[in-house]
Amino acid sequence: MRYVIAGNSVAAVSAIDAIRRRDQDGEIYVISPEPRTAYCRPLITYKLAGQVPPERLPYRQEGYYRAKGVNLIYGKSLEGLEPEKGRVALTGGERLEYDRLLLAMGAVPFMPPIEGLDGPGVYPFTTMEHLELVEAALRDWREVVVVGAGMIGIKAAEALHLRGLRVTVVELLDRILPIVLDGTSSVWAQREMEKHGMGYILGDSVVAIERDRKGNVQGVSLKSGTRVPAQGVIVAVGVRPNVGPLSSSPLQINKGVVVDDCMETNIEGVYAAGDIVEAYDLILGAKRPIQVWPLAFRQGLIAGANMAGGRRRYVGGFPINAVGFFGFKVASAGLSTVEPDMEESIEVLRFVDEERGIFRKVVLGNNKVMGFLILNDISRAGIYTGLIWSRMDVAGFKEYLVDEVSVPESCRPIVSGTEPWSFDTMKTHRRFGWALFPLSYRKQFTAMPSRIEEICAFDSEVYTL
Ligand SMILES: Cc1cc2nc3c(=O)[nH]c(=O)nc-3n(C[C@H](O)[C@H](O)[C@H](O)COP(=O)(O)OP(=O)(O)OC[C@H]3O[C@@H](n4cnc5c(N)ncnc54)[C@H](O)[C@@H]3O)c2cc1C
Repeated sequence: MRYVIAGNSVAAVSAIDAIRRRDQDGEIYVISPEPRTAYCRPLITYKLAGQVPPERLPYRQEGYYRAKGVNLIYGKSLEGLEPEKGRVALTGGERLEYDRLLLAMGAVPFMPPIEGLDGPGVYPFTTMEHLELVEAALRDWREVVVVGAGMIGIKAAEALHLRGLRVTVVELLDRILPIVLDGTSSVWAQREMEKHGMGYILGDSVVAIERDRKGNVQGVSLKSGTRVPAQGVIVAVGVRPNVGPLSSSPLQINKGVVVDDCMETNIEGVYAAGDIVEAYDLILGAKRPIQVWPLAFRQGLIAGANMAGGRRRYVGGFPINAVGFFGFKVASAGLSTVEPDMEESIEVLRFVDEERGIFRKVVLGNNKVMGFLILNDISRAGIYTGLIWSRMDVAGFKEYLVDEVSVPESCRPIVSGTEPWSFDTMKTHRRFGWALFPLSYRKQFTAMPSRIEEICAFDSEVYTL
């Protein structure tokens, strides 16, 4: 059996692990345009900020691929799919045959149509190559504009600020982290940015990059007519599934490659996982791309197991985010931006203590947790995430969910300073992420995982045929 995996990141690595658990003899080929082992993509902004050393970036070392018997093909991309011949086309016209194929080519940054975008000094920020380009450019930059105030934009902006640059974030919408924060929380976040001297312009967009005769960036012009001086620009307006190389194939592609609950595409033997796919969203009840690391990990694991003859099913996922900047912490999952009274069928529970910077919001639909948003004290993130997974009816204790004091006696977050917690009681309690549950509640909570291993077990336990 020959397995070919296009891509060499988290989805690919978990697929390799799952394949080898079932098949020690099959050939595995990994195609990697980037000439390096898999690395922790979420850490590249931390590396730019000088907060993590270079040795923390690799997700797997060369030895891992040797131990798994993987043939790594560096410097080549999948450029086409010929399923009728059971092969893929690679850079340079080479062909590689497969028995099972995994498309794990991730996402690519969206570059909006801005005048003067092409040329030096303007970079997206999603790969190690982008990190290296920006690090090399830093010596010529004093002022930088970050286009887009999403997760990547905000983290890149913080990193550049910490490197001593004057940073202005420009966001088309009226708030920062627009797909995570709601009105109140985004005002808090903005205040935090201001406190640290970071500039932002909301409700405006960059229409042109101004360059001098040599092509060097001089600044950006905004739709409103404002001009912001800059020597560098980071474009972070979102990523799209990397389906370009597959566009002339018979694969079913909407926004991403459409997969079933085994992570198989409409072509038998061809699987897809990670940021490239459009898989089931447990909360929306529809397929769509959700581009986060833990889902790419799970999807790769399920695809790999099924490629090697397993029968694992993906129950679905939902967006989960945890981000911090300048010490300001945000954790969210599922529907987090919904405002009270926005939707009749949705109930929003909130606890807000502005003085202490505490904000907890839980979104319920039909008494089931469909999302949450918490700021600063994020100790309940595990409980809330677990409640989303479990789809448990919370009618009996919902009034306690966001309350300050009365965490239901069934679930106690481990928060130092609230009340002394004796670890002797661990014998009677089970830990789920940040929370402890008494074993007496085990039955109720067994389908309520928050650690990734537990979520993976949930996929197989419930659906193994
Ligand atoms: C700066 C940044 C910060 C992030 N922070 C977080 C975070 O805090 N939390 C979180 O959950 N998620 C975060 N993410 C998202 C997370 O990194 C992705 O969801 C995850 O990496 C997706 O994994 P993947 O395996 O699908 O693909 P990717 O990690 O995107 O990797 C794609 C792989 O495919 C290869 N490839 C590309 N084109 C081809 C081709 N034509 N042929 C063959 N191979 C190809 C690439 O070289 C790469 O090896 C962040 C992303 C970025 C960029």
